[in-house]
Amino acid sequence: MGSYLIKNVRVWDAIEDKAYPGEVLVEGNKIKAVARGRDQFGLESAAEVIDGEGQFLMPGMVEGHCHLSFVGPARNQDLGEIPPEEHLLRTCRNATFILNHGFTSCYSAASAKLRIDVVVRQEIEDGYLAGPRYRAAGPEITVTGGLGDERKQHMHAESFGMIADGVDEIRRAVRICCREGVDNLKFNVSGDEFVGHARAEVVSLSLEELTAGVQTAHDWGKKVACHSRAAESVKRAVRAGVDCIYHCDFADEEALDMLESVKDRVFVGPAFGLVHNSVFEGDVVGLTRERVESMGLPRKLEHTIRTYHEMRRRGMRVVVGGDYGFTVTPMGQNARDIGHFVKFFGYTPAEALKCATAVGGALMGFDDELGVIRAGALADLLLVDADPLLDPSVLVGPSHFTMIMKDGDMFRDPRGGHANFQLRGEGGHSARLATGPSPA
Ligand SMILES: [Zn+2]
Repeated sequence: MGSYLIKNVRVWDAIEDKAYPGEVLVEGNKIKAVARGRDQFGLESAAEVIDGEGQFLMPGMVEGHCHLSFVGPARNQDLGEIPPEEHLLRTCRNATFILNHGFTSCYSAASAKLRIDVVVRQEIEDGYLAGPRYRAAGPEITVTGGLGDERKQHMHAESFGMIADGVDEIRRAVRICCREGVDNLKFNVSGDEFVGHARAEVVSLSLEELTAGVQTAHDWGKKVACHSRAAESVKRAVRAGVDCIYHCDFADEEALDMLESVKDRVFVGPAFGLVHNSVFEGDVVGLTRERVESMGLPRKLEHTIRTYHEMRRRGMRVVVGGDYGFTVTPMGQNARDIGHFVKFFGYTPAEALKCATAVGGALMGFDDELGVIRAGALADLLLVDADPLLDPSVLVGPSHFTMIMKDGDMFRDPRGGHANFQLRGEGGHSARLATGPSPA
């Protein structure tokens, strides 16, 4: 069991707003103690000593709407066309990539194929693959014609959807996902701008179907997330008992009141990166201004901004995570959403950073024990050579992370000058794999 003394750092614990000079003791996979000031713990208190040289120590970030298996598709059906073997390998690469970008936890908002998330999570947990803590999802359970049904009458097509119609089929879809080992289920309750036959304000899943799906998932001890853009789809999600309601762009007063009434139980997440990039940066992937306008994306952006000012005002637990993984939202940009919360939704940098740490830790199922720096919490820590409270954009890209620790394991060691990944070889022994010079 390793132990570290991390001294001479500015600790930002995700509990208070401000950082303070301090030091942190890590033992095994947990934070053993935190102290304010310098030289509070003797050098003998841990096997290894890290001198943080005055840098910013914060909890590892949590991606609250993650799609590790979305490997850069332009269209939803592109995901269906990737053979499972390539798809799995590319998802593994994303797992290591996102950890290297400071995300030590990811809550999946759907797997493109049923077993990919589950297999990748297991590989990470068993220590063979460098990746974040991962809550694995199944595909997006949707009805015929809903978001995720890319079939045509004359032609079969797959995407990220698992199509089920009626209460019995929905229950069966949930049970199949449970049998294969998912942690979370995902339901598409509304459509989306990107779906010609089911736009964002179309409510595709009935209350009866959603309620049956949520109850079945809860019976199996699983969490449920959903895609709800239309106001009615948000209300349906609250009524059915969904645990995490994504998007909520068109939530009206009644939907917001309903969300507020369950704010101690329910998480929400805007998944703003996809909206933002499509509107402001869509041209880089050929999304012309005319297309952006005809899909109604600028209008949705306005609604999202208005809705999340309200979410903040009402004290909702909002998670960071932006639907990264599409062509227009390349994986690795994930931390841009922290800056978006500040710029577009009126959050302070400290508030936005808490959404990406402490709130995300609670979504992962570790209230007060993940995404915070306090005695007893899990040892997921980042050392940053700049101040994210002054400029959250320093968290985008791996260049400012001088240390990445997950579960007490060092994935980037500030003493080594290069990125290290602790991997277990097939023989069960531990191997250190140097991945070349740090971009820093
Ligand atoms: Zn998504």
